[in-house]
Amino acid sequence: MGYRITVLAGDGIGPEVVNETLKVLDKVGKKFGREFEYDHCLIGGAAIDATGECLPKETVEKALASDAVLLGAVGGPKWDSQPAANRPEKALLGIRKALNLYANLRPAVVFDELKDASPLKSEILQGGLDILIVRELTGGIYFGEHELKPETDPEIGEVAYDVEEYSQMEIRRIARVAFDLAMKRGKKVTSVDKANVLESSRLWRRTVAEVAKDYPEVELDNLYVDNAAMQLVRAPKQFDVIVTSNIFGDILSDEASQITGSIGMLPSASLTEGSFGMYEPVHGSAPDIAGTGKANPIATILSAAMMLRYSLGLSEEADAIENAVNEFLKAGYRTPDLQASPDHKVVGTEEAGNLIADMI
Ligand code: NAD
Repeated sequence: MGYRITVLAGDGIGPEVVNETLKVLDKVGKKFGREFEYDHCLIGGAAIDATGECLPKETVEKALASDAVLLGAVGGPKWDSQPAANRPEKALLGIRKALNLYANLRPAVVFDELKDASPLKSEILQGGLDILIVRELTGGIYFGEHELKPETDPEIGEVAYDVEEYSQMEIRRIARVAFDLAMKRGKKVTSVDKANVLESSRLWRRTVAEVAKDYPEVELDNLYVDNAAMQLVRAPKQFDVIVTSNIFGDILSDEASQITGSIGMLPSASLTEGSFGMYEPVHGSAPDIAGTGKANPIATILSAAMMLRYSLGLSEEADAIENAVNEFLKAGYRTPDLQASPDHKVVGTEEAGNLIADMI
């Protein structure tokens, strides 16, 4: 029986990087005797153009009926004038909520071959870097109440607010994901909050500490988000697993991504209870390079490796993808976003996909 994968290519470079990833998956399937069935569905701007809606019901239904979802990226200037409720990015929040994907895993790994691409001094990264950011994905300020109040006093102008709200249930389950993962890694969790100012952060800190009691082998550290942002560039090797809220995780994972050299290398997984999950690159639809053949497909290819590992239970196959990416870099190939030296062979999206598939 084959594995059913819902494929949401999306907008901009989304379809370009997804296309290369399916090539790599097909090669893995051939090599290991696995059958991957792809169900292509609409999301984001492409869905607005075809159906008027950024997240058609059919897409959610098909996703729920599959083993895992592979997503490219959504958004672009073409849809910037859409009303807020039907912008392509709204589809991302919608599908995460509909699939109850409350845990977002973002590894920030510095590949040995790309050490020089990091903006940090090489001594800071001596011995490699492997951080896993666990971001709460379905709660907090992005899902709290939002309101724009009309102007009543011209001197004050319009007023807007967004509510950050967390329940202990939400905090407990994301904390457990972080501690479970830490048990399989470096046994250290850093919980990031703003407990000196925010009530929701004080509840976060207290609840994470309670969960930590079930994991006596794991060291728990608490950091304020401003300090965490600083520590990530000052001494990133102190981190193993970072667990944090939706908005702080959004910001810190982008910061961590820069340490690794390129946003084009970073995969992510969004998980729910059980093995189901959605897998996507950390980057967006990159409208500035869409259609130029310059997009780096590796973040999406590595997302597919995470999908094989976490949702389909195919770890040997996942290793094969990660090894092929390593081999591609070792052989001196670089996409244009990765700092290349004169010895490197710079290749475009399609050639990168072909080479990595060949190296499986
Ligand atoms: P972006 O990640 O799309 O691009 C930021 C910069 O990184 C750009 O210069 C881009 O060319 C480069 N880049 C990104 N991915 C790359 C890749 N694979 N290879 C090489 N270079 C790459 O972020 P942005 O410009 O802020 O947003 C563009 C659009 O994407 C917006 O509409 C935004 O809302 C949307 N977006 C979507 C997602 C998502 O689908 N998950 C995430 C972030 C932004």
